[in-house]
Amino acid sequence: MSKVARIPGYQSKNPKQNRGIIGDREIRFKCSLQNVILDVLRGRPGWTEVPGPNSQVPAAQQGTRPSNLQSLPPIPRNSDGDWDFYWCDREWLHQNYDTMFLHEHQKILHFRNHYELTRKNLMVKNLKRLRKQTEREQGKTEAQSFDFYPTTYELPSEYHIFVEEFKKNLGIIWIMKPAAKSQGKGIFLFRRLKDITDWKKGEYQPLSDQTRDVPETYVVQRYIENPLLIGGRKFDVRVYVLVCSYNPLKVWLYRGGFARFSNTRFSLDSIEDTYVHLTNVAVQKNAPDYDPEKGCKWSTQQLRKYLAAKHGVDKVQKMFKAIDNIIIKSLQSVQKIIINDKHCFEMYGYDVLLDDDLKPWLIEINASPSLTASGKEDYDLKFGLISDLLNVLDLENRLTGKEKRIGGWDLLWDDGPIVADDNMDCTPANGAAVSTPNSYLGCFNDRKKQLREIYLTAQSVKKS
Ligand code: ADP
Repeated sequence: MSKVARIPGYQSKNPKQNRGIIGDREIRFKCSLQNVILDVLRGRPGWTEVPGPNSQVPAAQQGTRPSNLQSLPPIPRNSDGDWDFYWCDREWLHQNYDTMFLHEHQKILHFRNHYELTRKNLMVKNLKRLRKQTEREQGKTEAQSFDFYPTTYELPSEYHIFVEEFKKNLGIIWIMKPAAKSQGKGIFLFRRLKDITDWKKGEYQPLSDQTRDVPETYVVQRYIENPLLIGGRKFDVRVYVLVCSYNPLKVWLYRGGFARFSNTRFSLDSIEDTYVHLTNVAVQKNAPDYDPEKGCKWSTQQLRKYLAAKHGVDKVQKMFKAIDNIIIKSLQSVQKIIINDKHCFEMYGYDVLLDDDLKPWLIEINASPSLTASGKEDYDLKFGLISDLLNVLDLENRLTGKEKRIGGWDLLWDDGPIVADDNMDCTPANGAAVSTPNSYLGCFNDRKKQLREIYLTAQSVKKS
């Protein structure tokens, strides 16, 4: 490959060529995590790690540059805030956002109040509100497009409404989840009200009891009793979504992802068995017969192919379209609430469960989806995902800003739906629909080839 056609994001063997630029200098990054993201940032041509309280640069190395950039001046020791890109953790953002000043060029992970979408109780509250508004303004039929989250109540605040609903539907299964925990912690299923007596004793106290701390908030949610099973096992799908702006809303959807399977065959006989009912890797890896070699994941591409062969391309296409609807409606539900800031971006991990009619249900949205790899395939997925996220953010300013696809990310929404240029990859056999959405979840991801092409195109556009 010629020097001119070298793809940004891929390390050249010659260190002197590994210099991306903001204007005339390298890009300085900070990172709070120590997993695939750090590998991507450290390996990115022309990007340099900045030491600071959260930096992963060992103290002994602080003040020096990586070996390939040692010809540049030393990094100042007191360089907190001296960064262009910060992959920070949520706690850091909460503690610092309100008092920090961000320069024009700085980019930081997370919007200030991302929890409006990522706390289980708030997500549902916001969805219910937009649903009501839609019903008022556009009618019942349009409001039905919000039928993608299971009936949910916040506890203890909505306990009495929940009990009324419970009595109307005796015999069904409910799932209790702490609103702000993750990895399956504190979750249990129940059929009878008396099964939550212990929870009530421990957590729910009348608000008049002044001596008590505020009880932990839970959500109680209708359990999806008819999940789609593959090989007798339940699974859910992890979908990656990138939001670069809330106003106007600009949303990218990543082609890759995975399905997480439970290790034990599904059955409603043993509702207390978390290995049967919770698909979290954090739960499944503790199952007694868990085999780390086999793991419990399929790529979304594998899943899409399997489902298309089993249920027909049209039905699967409809299912993926319904996932697009979940993404857009959920983001719109917080569009006016999230504090929009041009410095911020968010990469969400959506958890979607399919039922046996191939209807997707939104289970939850994570602001910090795990970027720790569970194996080689998982590592490659996450490496590509984050490399392409940096390509979308384009701090190097190498693209035109008009791209609809960057590596594995497809632009789904830019203040309105984006229509695909072509529908070669994943369209139904019968189908050259004119307004196919620019959505390719689970489709072929020839990201390196595509990047080469768009960088060449952008170069020639910029020259002319
Ligand atoms: P956490 O944040 O602790 O991972 P989730 O809401 O994602 O909590 O739930 C954990 C797992 O429990 C999900 O991955 C899914 O397998 C299962 N689950 C959660 N809610 C439901 C539901 N309403 N119906 C069926 N399964 C559910």
